[in-house]
Amino acid sequence: NENVTPDNNDDVSASASAKTPALIAREVARRRTFGIISHPDAGKTTLTEKLLLFSGAIQMAGTVKARKSGRHATSDWMEIEKQRGISVASSVMQFEFRDHVVNLLDTPGHQDFSEDTYRVLTAVDSALMVIDAAKGVEAQTIKLLDVCRMRNTPIVTFMNKMDRETRDPLELLDELESVLKIQCAPVTWPIGMGKNFRGVYHLLNDTIMLFKAGEERADGAFEIIEGIDNPRLQEMFPLEMDQLRMEVELVKGASHPFDLQEFLAGVQTPVFFGSAINNFGVREILSALVDWAPAPRERDATVRAVDPKEEPFTGFVFKIQANMDPAHRDRIAFLRVCSGRFERGMKVKHLRLGREVKVSSVVTFMASTREQVEEAYAGDIIGLPNHGNMQIGDSFSEGEMLTFTGIPFFAPDFFRQVRIRNPLKIKQLHKGLQQLGEEGAVQVFKPVQGGELVLGAVGVLQFEVVASRLLNEYGVDAVFEGTSISSARWVSSDDKKALSDFEDQLGHNVAYDAAGNLAYLATSSVNLRLTQERWPKLQFHATREHS
Ligand code: GDP
Repeated sequence: NENVTPDNNDDVSASASAKTPALIAREVARRRTFGIISHPDAGKTTLTEKLLLFSGAIQMAGTVKARKSGRHATSDWMEIEKQRGISVASSVMQFEFRDHVVNLLDTPGHQDFSEDTYRVLTAVDSALMVIDAAKGVEAQTIKLLDVCRMRNTPIVTFMNKMDRETRDPLELLDELESVLKIQCAPVTWPIGMGKNFRGVYHLLNDTIMLFKAGEERADGAFEIIEGIDNPRLQEMFPLEMDQLRMEVELVKGASHPFDLQEFLAGVQTPVFFGSAINNFGVREILSALVDWAPAPRERDATVRAVDPKEEPFTGFVFKIQANMDPAHRDRIAFLRVCSGRFERGMKVKHLRLGREVKVSSVVTFMASTREQVEEAYAGDIIGLPNHGNMQIGDSFSEGEMLTFTGIPFFAPDFFRQVRIRNPLKIKQLHKGLQQLGEEGAVQVFKPVQGGELVLGAVGVLQFEVVASRLLNEYGVDAVFEGTSISSARWVSSDDKKALSDFEDQLGHNVAYDAAGNLAYLATSSVNLRLTQERWPKLQFHATREHS
């Protein structure tokens, strides 16, 4: 299972004939890679299940559920491992829909929320935003949308739970526009809600899809009636139709008509109403992703932009997951293919290490099982076994020196101080934290003026995982304690003197992270603001890019 072997095997010629630009272009064009952004309980798990039902990957439904029920497990290591084993199996789901290859990347939420959640969004080409229509825009949605905005990722919106009493649909659109600062283009419009939910009107097709409750409908075949003025509708829903016509008039006047270019630029989101649990409106979402969302696009690789249709293979690692398979303590590096054609057994260059590696054992994520991947194209995710030689942000190619950009680190929201029970283990602790920091499992800050190491994370589960891994992989029994630090900002400046004065004067709250970047550890938001005001020559950053 070694992925780094001496290159003694020349198997490139056999595949050369198949490696035609036309084939690659065709495969790239039919790929759609997206993630779901939502606040906990908006319906992401339910929707994921239904999306997979359409693709025929029905066995997945159980897996997604299994994952969900396991997520409130205790901090016991075995439990975490079990939970992660399940979540990883479903963390990349590839399926076919209407002759397209769809890659759905899971964005861990709830307790699983971690920096991975953010980084996954750097590997997608579009995102599906799920909103609970009874609640509207919620905190986590805002955070995740901000991450999408860093790359102008196109967003499709699903207003879920219309079978419940929801907020007024017009008010929901208004909230999206004002809070998320994104133009809304309703594509479907709900007829009633809750007990009186009758269906949706498709504004572009002038058809009405009638709602019918029921969970098990896999084909999504709901009755369709053509034309908003169809007399049959008037007979069926005399009251609702008048109301609908009025609302549609209003919506058409007050909102933006759908514009593909605006959507692709990340400026506008098409909005669909439905009910995931009833599988209602789900197929429309999938169709929108296939019809409108972009195939893999050019990516910035510092020295130049890489076109996905180029023949040479390139890609980058956006996530590293440990202990995927409870039976093997391996780590898997998740690599997003950016161009060319990947074939099992091919040699690729690990650009940071400047070394050729032969990738013979690779997994892909078809349905619920990990399978050996034979080939992959831009947009696909492949899992490389990793024995500690790969880090988040690492770029791979067939030889050209490239560095894919845009893998951000986010200022942590949670902090812990680390202490060890056995002081003789201090070296192991530092080594372990250095490696876990480089891997991106947690952020490690070393205060300039002594003091204990400070760990930062965007989700609290990260600390438990790190504690368990320190014990299991490095033999260090560490104690994590609360700290007075409440936020962190990376600090930079052209003014070297100002930077060194800053270090000298605020040394207890100034620290270096695992990659050697200077950061300020603030005790409160007021403290952060005052410090920023007092040091006008310094810039304070809430994110930093992988270097
Ligand atoms: P997640 O936390 O975003 O993954 O949300 P889930 O998919 O687990 O859904 C949260 C809760 O909302 C569950 O109890 C679901 O059964 C429920 N739910 C999801 N979709 C719908 C829907 O369309 N209508 C109703 N009434 N409940 C829903």
